[in-house]
This record gives sequence, structure tokens and C-alpha cells, in this order.
Amino acid sequence: MVTNLNTLDLIEAKVLKGERLSKEDGLNLFASNDLARIGYLADLVRKRISGDYVYYNVNCHLNLTNMCTALCDFCAFGCEETDKRAYAMTMDDIRAKVKRACLDPNMKNLHIVSGLHPHWPFSYYVDVIKMLKKEFPQLHLKGFTGVEITHFAKISGKSIREVLQELKDAGIEAMPGGGAEILNDRIRNKLCPNKATASEWLEVSRVAHSLGIKTNASMLYGHIETIEERVDHLITLRNLQDETGGIQTFICFPFHPANTKLGQSVQRTSVWDDLKTMAICRLMLDNIHNIKAYWVMLTLPIAQLALGFGANDIDGTISEEKIMHDAGANSPKALTRDNLITLIKQTGRIPAECDCNFNIIRTF
Ligand code: SF4
Repeated sequence: MVTNLNTLDLIEAKVLKGERLSKEDGLNLFASNDLARIGYLADLVRKRISGDYVYYNVNCHLNLTNMCTALCDFCAFGCEETDKRAYAMTMDDIRAKVKRACLDPNMKNLHIVSGLHPHWPFSYYVDVIKMLKKEFPQLHLKGFTGVEITHFAKISGKSIREVLQELKDAGIEAMPGGGAEILNDRIRNKLCPNKATASEWLEVSRVAHSLGIKTNASMLYGHIETIEERVDHLITLRNLQDETGGIQTFICFPFHPANTKLGQSVQRTSVWDDLKTMAICRLMLDNIHNIKAYWVMLTLPIAQLALGFGANDIDGTISEEKIMHDAGANSPKALTRDNLITLIKQTGRIPAECDCNFNIIRTF
């Protein structure tokens, strides 16, 4: 029999049969410019894996400090303690900010990510979590990236397991996915040599999952990585998920060059790349339930469009985002719950409000 199937035909046949895509398939998808077809396949997989719900949460971002000992080349948020932008929140600052956020009766989630402060001891972070749990028991606490956990272990002399157990006992229920960037030490040695290595980041996730703490995972793309390194990154996360099953959501962050050390040399990714990458992530990460379209970095129109390219999660109301806006993100700093519900309904899907562990609170 004569067959005349091109690479996308072969990939489509695999997708329809529910077969896992290989590294070569991932590379072929990136090499193709048939965006509509790649998006169609990703949308099929999205529907098969997670149905028509689009998850969002009513949340507040808490960035305890922007002082950071790592000073990664791609980051516009972290700075030295002598920088005029430097700030560090006291316990009273934190309490006041969270109290303000809780004026919204729907507020349910705190997302806590910060720089690596040069002097704070690990006990300060534990005390913050204990205070939040005691004074705001209605909130779900998602806190600290693999990079921060590695830092806490180093400054406290404790093991990763001891650090995570202490934070869990204090009230941490889930962890965000930041700090993964691209899990490749060639890139990390160039862009962020002062923070967790690829294997340290993976180890934190492994230990967290073994303690019952679910995490997110992410990819920062569009800087100095090759397409092959993007695909390898996705396969590394897929392998981790096969091993532990503890990743709840995957987020792909397009790099924002403004105000970073890479600013002059790297261009912002195109919408075409953003949508294609989103769709390929959905296709490659067949064992991760949720793919997030993070509206802060994508902008609202692209995030909405991404819901047709494999995404089923659009993050939250956020209540003042700082990290990406320091890097020039021109999306709003916060949204209302009604904004998000409308945005999701316009795509014909079902808004599902959830907590940080994807327990559905209500649907609309
Ligand atoms: S990415 Fe994180 S670790 Fe790196 S400089 Fe920014 S805040 Fe610090």
C-alpha cells in the first residue's frame, strides 16, 4: 500500500489514538507552521483530558520582598538591597495587605513568591505562614518555588524534606511552579547561576509530592533556549509526572525582556509562537491535567485565545501583580471575578472557580 502521510498526519494519528508523542514529534510540531491544525489537535486533547471547565481562582499575590541574592539575567523584579526599588514586608505590612485583599468576600487563595532575601532566616518565612494560617484561616496558601525552597535549605542547614515538612505543618497547601525556567544547566549557568540547578528544582518537586504537597511546573521560553531545549524541558517534566503524579498545572511563560539584563538582545516572542507553544505543551504533557494561560504575561486577548489552543486554566484575579509588571507586562495588574467569568463564557466554556488544589468551589 502506498502511503503519503506527512509528519503532521502521523502526529494526528497518534493523538487520535491517545498515544504519547515522542521528542521527534515535539520537534516536528515546532517546525510546522500549521498553527490552526496544531491548535485543533491541542483542543481535542484538552477536551479529552479536562472537559469544558476553565479553572480560575480569586487570589492575591504576596511578594514578601524583591531583594534577591540570585539576580537572574531574565528578571526585572529581583534587586540588590541597596537598590532604591528594594522593599521587604514586615509582619504588619503582610497582615495589612492580606486584610485589604480579604475585603473581597470571595478571596480564597494566596500565592506567595518572593526574592531570595539576603538576611531573613528561614524561621521568618515559617512565622509568616503561621500568622497567615491563624489570622486568615479561610485562605488557601500556595507558597514558595523550588528555588526558594532550595535557598531555605541552604540558609537553615536543613534538608529539603525538613524545610518542606516545616512549611506544610505551618500551613502551606500547594506550591507554585516558578523557577523551573528551562531545566537545563547550560541555560541556567548563563542566565541564573546563583539559584537552584535543574536537578535541585526537580528534587524539591519530588520531595514535595512525596509529602503530599501538589506543585505547579512552568517553562520560561523565548530567551536563549533552543527549540530542542524546550522539547527536552517538557519531556523532563512529563517524566517527573510519570514518577510522582504531583504536578497540578503547567504554565508556559513567554519571556518579557523589558527592564532585564537581556533587554537589548532578545525580542518579545510573537503571538504565533505563544499559541503554538501553548498547543505543543498541551500535546506533549499528556499526563498533566491543567495547562494555564497566564493572562498577566500573555495579555488578556491572547490568554482568551489560548483557551482554544489547549489551555483550561486562566489563573486568577491576582489583586496586584508585581513580578511581571516590573518586566514591562502591559496587562492589567488585577481583574475582577466578573471579568474572568465573562472572558471564559465568551469562549463557550464553563467557568469553574477553584482553590489552590483545584477543588471546585462553584461553576457558572
Ligand atoms: S527570578 Fe527569582 S531568584 Fe531570580 S532574580 Fe528574580 S526573584 Fe530572584
